[in-house]
Amino acid sequence: MPMIDSHSAMRPTLILGGTTEGNRLAAALAQAGLPAVHSFAGRTEAPRAQPVPVRTGGFGGVDGLVRYLRAAGIGRVIDATHPFAAQMSGNAVAACAAAGVPLLALERPAWVAGPGDDWRMVPDLGTAVAALPATPARIFLAIGRQHLAAFAARPGHRYLVRLVDPPREALPLPGCTVEVARGPFDMAGDRDLMIRHRIDGLVTRNAGGTGAVAKLLAARALGLPVIMIARPRLSARAVVATLDEALRWLHADLGV
Ligand code: NAP
Repeated sequence: MPMIDSHSAMRPTLILGGTTEGNRLAAALAQAGLPAVHSFAGRTEAPRAQPVPVRTGGFGGVDGLVRYLRAAGIGRVIDATHPFAAQMSGNAVAACAAAGVPLLALERPAWVAGPGDDWRMVPDLGTAVAALPATPARIFLAIGRQHLAAFAARPGHRYLVRLVDPPREALPLPGCTVEVARGPFDMAGDRDLMIRHRIDGLVTRNAGGTGAVAKLLAARALGLPVIMIARPRLSARAVVATLDEALRWLHADLGV
């Protein structure tokens, strides 16, 4: 029987969230009666209700996160942020090392092209912009509003943009068409959307997971090309792909 450090076991787990995985992990910890704090960047106006205490907004870089970990008595961190939230994930690696707090990343596997897919893999956003067709086309940008400005450099195309919240100010991509919708999406709905807007091709990032894969299945069904932006490279850290694995790691850290 392992010795249980009850002081450490009572320390809350900090979940760096903003994803379906973060929401599921928070629900699992609440159900198990384990203390947790779920942290959001505060980008979404109406995040889903949470079964554990929530904190919102940046920590103030690595130093701010180190201060927070100490002040809140955090026992361990599970980074369940989006695979493209590279800044937050890098900060978590550095801050946990500095504060001596165990860190695990819960990261969904990347999507992989299958038969019938027509993907062009690119390493970053700039290369995705450069990879757009030379002649005017209707492009579905499934990339998030903070990355739209890069496409203003290619004004010859018609862009469809899907956003979680209605834009409150002009988007940095003049003339784009906006579709406001919150996932998860399904293949039939995304196929209809692309047909309705007579889409010629997609640009997206390799987010992975099931909630946003519908657009890729729809593109495959319609024979449309996809410009796929690869994930950013991150510092070395322990990574698991599933909620069960994260819970096993958590229980091992708790000694129960
Ligand atoms: P990012 O570029 O890696 O982070 C920028 C800064 O935002 C971080 O340095 C941190 O500020 C703050 N931040 C990010 N995630 C946070 C969190 N969970 N709790 C507290 N502060 C956080 O992140 P991003 O790509 O803008 O994503 C922001 C949030 O949206 C993340 O929670 C992510 O999981 C979620 N999300 C992102 C995407 C995406 O495509 N990137 C998609 C879906 C959901 P300080 O340095 O001040 O601590």
